Amino acid sequence: MTDGGTDQLLPIATGRRAGRVVADELRARPLATAAAGLAAVCAAASGLLAPVVLGRLVDAVDRREGTVWPFVGALLGAALLSAVLTGLSAVLIARLGETVLARLRERVVDRALHLPSATLDRVRGGDLLSRVGDDVAKVAEAVTSALPQVAGAGLTVLLTLVGLGTLDWRLALAGMVALPLYVLALRWYLPRSAPRYAAERVAMGERSQALVSSVQGADTVHAYADEARHRAVVDDRSAHALGITLGVFRLFTDFGWRMNRAEYVGLAAVLGVGFLLVRSGDVTVGAVTTAALLFHRLFGPLGLLLFTFDDVQSAGASLVRMVGVADLPGTAAADHAADRAADRSGVRPAVELRGIGHSYGGPPVLVDVDLRLAPGERVALVGASGAGKTTLAGVLAGALDPAAGQVLLDGEPVADLRERVGLVSQEVHVFAGPLSDDLRLARPQATDAELAAALATVGAGWVTDLDVVVGDGGRELTAPQAQQLALARLVLADPPVAVLDEATAEAGSAGARDLEDAADAAVRGRTTLVVAHRLTQAARADRVVVLAAGRVVEEGTHAELVAAGGRYARLWSAWTARG
Ligand code: ADP
Ligand code: MG
Repeated sequence: MTDGGTDQLLPIATGRRAGRVVADELRARPLATAAAGLAAVCAAASGLLAPVVLGRLVDAVDRREGTVWPFVGALLGAALLSAVLTGLSAVLIARLGETVLARLRERVVDRALHLPSATLDRVRGGDLLSRVGDDVAKVAEAVTSALPQVAGAGLTVLLTLVGLGTLDWRLALAGMVALPLYVLALRWYLPRSAPRYAAERVAMGERSQALVSSVQGADTVHAYADEARHRAVVDDRSAHALGITLGVFRLFTDFGWRMNRAEYVGLAAVLGVGFLLVRSGDVTVGAVTTAALLFHRLFGPLGLLLFTFDDVQSAGASLVRMVGVADLPGTAAADHAADRAADRSGVRPAVELRGIGHSYGGPPVLVDVDLRLAPGERVALVGASGAGKTTLAGVLAGALDPAAGQVLLDGEPVADLRERVGLVSQEVHVFAGPLSDDLRLARPQATDAELAAALATVGAGWVTDLDVVVGDGGRELTAPQAQQLALARLVLADPPVAVLDEATAEAGSAGARDLEDAADAAVRGRTTLVVAHRLTQAARADRVVVLAAGRVVEEGTHAELVAAGGRYARLWSAWTARG
């Protein structure tokens, strides 16, 4: 992964596929889905009560009959019912959305954890992280805030239209004169808003970048007495961003005005037609009142639908990105820790790599590599950077499926090499949290005493407390310390075969020598392949294999190869010459 190369992008699902995934999840929860749907419909319907009650009240006043108190009571009741139902439906929808999202999040993380290492190396930095991080967060935010609002607003618009239609089709039709004006307002607003919002985001980004970089570089700014110029840059960007924000605000106000115009023209039409119908005795004044109020109620939710449109759209884009990862084909999630425990048989297998070939899509990285390790043998793999050592190590450890060839243990192919081969990679990732949790990755049921013993085996005397928190806000580990932990994990997992990809950074320091001893102790009793950057490691191995441009070019004991005076001999003399 340190060898450059562009980030490869993970697949993105289609909208239809994402819809199907969500629908499947909803179908798997029929009760919660039905409850949320019912509550949303009832909440939207309850909003129709107040206009109806007010209409009745107007009719009662018109006929000079009865008292108003029952109507006042009914109005209060309607308002209360509507508030309760709206709250309930928002909670039910948000909770359902969260549950579905949690399932999807699990799938994304699960797929990410099972990506072949080669893919993982390529995407780790960018795409995958943003999918697991930003996309999940964006969808989560939409699920708790936008989703209940959008569902409520959509249903309200729908039910209000139905209500208007059933009340009196002529009044409903009159209101429709607002429609063309509404569409015109939208056609005016939409093409103007998107670029402005985009420009606003860019301007805000530039502003905070200028701020952050000035603050971060404050020392340097001081040293060059450059405060005034930096202030000017920040001021400039702030003014620019403010200008754009004000522009967005004006646009928004303008649009609101156009919407209002549509609304009031429609309202005037409803009242005008209503007046004619009342005069001809076709409808009551109360019915016209109800129609006018219903009509007025349409516009709030319509506006809300419009303004959550952006959020919904960007959440949708995030959702298809999440589903793209969730749908990746992956290896079955085996419980490797349990399997390894079962395999702790103490039998050291013979290892055979047969005709291994591989490429990452470009030129071949490994070409027909044959390699045998006798039971318990320790073989060192050496070669220049880019020779294919890490790739070969990955193949043996089952981290990578080679394009050609097989790996045999005791003459048999193995379904999942990871169950029997332990890998300590060049770059060790130590999980943030208590150290003991990280170690128990290798053997979940290990006792504290076993953890301490494994640490002692690899000479990690600096660990004085198993529960010390490392990473993220805890103690930072040095690279050799992280390597030591990885070796301790190997000891705990206790696989019969070990693969060590030595860290490149060596600096003949005391730390490096400690690590060599730690590695010796960790692989004792296992059939071992060690990628050796420090040739002193190679000298200690039973046998040395030299890899160049993906091929085995020399093979023999350290002494034999030095005597042969070939490539390894040259590497060795260069190594010893540097002291
Ligand atoms: P070594 O460990 O000997 O330095 P590697 O096995 O890491 O060699 O790499 C061998 C070749 O394969 C290099 O040319 C490297 O650029 C390429 N390579 C390694 N990993 C990847 C990857 N994930 N994607 C594409 N190319 C890769
Ligand atoms: Mg390497």
